[in-house]
Formats: sequence, structure tokens, C-alpha cells
Amino acid sequence: MSADDLRKEAASIAHAAKRLIERERARGGGELLAAGVAKARESARASARAKGIVLPPAPSAPQREPVAQPTTLEVAAPVVAPAAPVAPAAPPAAPPAGGMPDFVANSPAFKPPAPQPEPKVAPDFVLPPFTEDLNPSALGGSRDAIVAASLPVLADVAAQANACEKCGLCRTHTKAVPGVGSARSGIVFVGEAPGADEDLRGEPFVGRAGELLTKMIEGMHQRALIPGVKLDRDEVYIVNVLKCRPPDNRNPLPHEIEACSPYVLRQLEALQPRVICCLGKFAAELLLGMKGTISSMRGKTYRWKGAKLVVTYHPAYCLRSPSAKRPVWDDLQRLAQEYLTD
Ligand code: SF4
Repeated sequence: MSADDLRKEAASIAHAAKRLIERERARGGGELLAAGVAKARESARASARAKGIVLPPAPSAPQREPVAQPTTLEVAAPVVAPAAPVAPAAPPAAPPAGGMPDFVANSPAFKPPAPQPEPKVAPDFVLPPFTEDLNPSALGGSRDAIVAASLPVLADVAAQANACEKCGLCRTHTKAVPGVGSARSGIVFVGEAPGADEDLRGEPFVGRAGELLTKMIEGMHQRALIPGVKLDRDEVYIVNVLKCRPPDNRNPLPHEIEACSPYVLRQLEALQPRVICCLGKFAAELLLGMKGTISSMRGKTYRWKGAKLVVTYHPAYCLRSPSAKRPVWDDLQRLAQEYLTD
């Protein structure tokens, strides 16, 4: 073999070795192979030198990129694919028409729903049947038994409220205001708390707001919204969540409602109403067990232990905002509709 042939063969071996090393390195076993090839190459060079042949310099092996050692944090962190472009956040979904929790009504984006034509029954609300334990008399039937059974209970509640010291409001009140009326019609109006006039007389809804409520009840009777059922203050029952007036007519406090609410609940159980009308948010929140604005709670028919329940604005609100009288009238018509249907 000539020196030129030897040179070409050595160059060919070096080139093949380089490619082999690169492939093996990619599989993770390149170092051992590279050492073997280098040893063979050095042996071939020694043999060539002994024969007086000068070989071209061996091609330098490609240097492996240094592998950065991951830090502890990098090891702990999951591999994350490049983030896809983030679509702009969608605006909050429009609240469904009808009921709305307080944490939503108080959110900055909330806007009270615009007045809508009142549906006969909210489409997402299915009325459950009356329960056995609080079954108002059948339409057109006698409520004599309910009236008779309610009297001693109502009298007992009144006596307890008159002597009550549970929440401390008795220290500032003039008279407790247990309630007035009868279980005869099967309609109960539940308000918030006595005002100044009620506090003096010991009777609910006798001030300006009470006069408006009386007119509303009489209007229901004059328009014969519930044919055959007499509607006036003596035939319906009128009651408040609190039996004693809060100082300066402030809102009831949670501990006062908690202390006093057993009275109104016992009254309702005795009255076995066919329909309850909540006047204002405190009555509605107590009986529905949820927070909400009146505008979000009205317009639906609920159940309270078998009685139907509707929500409307307090008459005192109507005095401040006369435009609310129309929706209140709508709610009273709803009340009558529900009264007339099982
Ligand atoms: S408001 Fe109710 S709980 Fe408080 S003292 Fe009067 S009756 Fe008792």
C-alpha cells in the first residue's frame, strides 16, 4: 500500500469514527466508543510514523455542549409548554332573570334588572305540592278549624313577646307589637319591625306605611282579586319579624332577628297561611333563607312549608319611592293568582 493510500485510508477511518461517535453520543454511549477509536487512531499513527509517513491531523471531535445543571427549583418545576395566547376574559354572565344571591347583587358589575312584564310563574321555578304538615284549607273550604286552633297560639306568642327580654330591644321600646288580624283569609303579611306609631300603640302597620298597606289590602278587595274572600285588616294577619322597635327605626341587627324570629315562625305555623306576602328584604331573607334585594327576589312564587310565598317592597319604601307602588300592585295580583290556584 502506498503512502498516499495509507493517508486516504486513515482519513476515511477518522471520518467514519467521527460520525459513529456522534451517533453513539446521541444515544448516551459515545464516550466509551470515542476512547476506543482514539486509541486505534493513535495506534495507526504510530505505525505510520514508524514507516516514515506523515498523516494529516486528526479531525477534532465535536465538543459536547456543556449541560447546565438544573437548580433545585428547576427540578421541582414541571415542564411547561409555551403558553398559548390568552383570550381576553369574557364579561360576567348576565344574571338570570329572577333570584340573585347577595354576593352577586353587591358585585360592582351588577345592575338591577330592568322592569320586565311579570311572568305568571318564573320558567325555572316548579311549584312543589302542598305538604301535609301545613296544608291550608282547600280553596273554598272552611278555615274555621285553623282559626280556632290558631287563637291560643297567637295569644301565647303575644304574651311571651310582651314579657320578652331576649335581645334587649325591650329596654328602649314602649310596647311590644306581636301582630294583628286573623287566620280567616289565609293571607299573612310579614313586615320588618315596628316604627314609632306601632311602638306607641302596640299594633303593626298603623303609621303612614300602615295606612298604605291598608289601602292596598282594600284595593285587592275592591277589585275582587280573590272572589268570595273578604280582605281587610281583620281578615288577614299582619306581623313583623321583630316584635320591638329598634331605636331610631334602624335596621334589625342579626342577633335581634335570631332572637325574635321564633315568635313569627310559630305564628305562621299556627296561621297555616295559603299565601305569605313578605314586605321588604328582612322578612324575605328570613323566610327564604337567602340574601337578596327585593328587586331580585320579587316576581317569583316560593314555598314556605307548603304555603305559597311572594315578595314585594315594604310600604315605607313605596312612600319614599312612589314609582314602586305599581310593582307592588303587580305582586299583589300575583299573590291573588297563587291564592286561587293549587
Ligand atoms: S325584639 Fe323580640 S327578641 Fe327582642 S326583646 Fe322584643 S320580643 Fe324579645
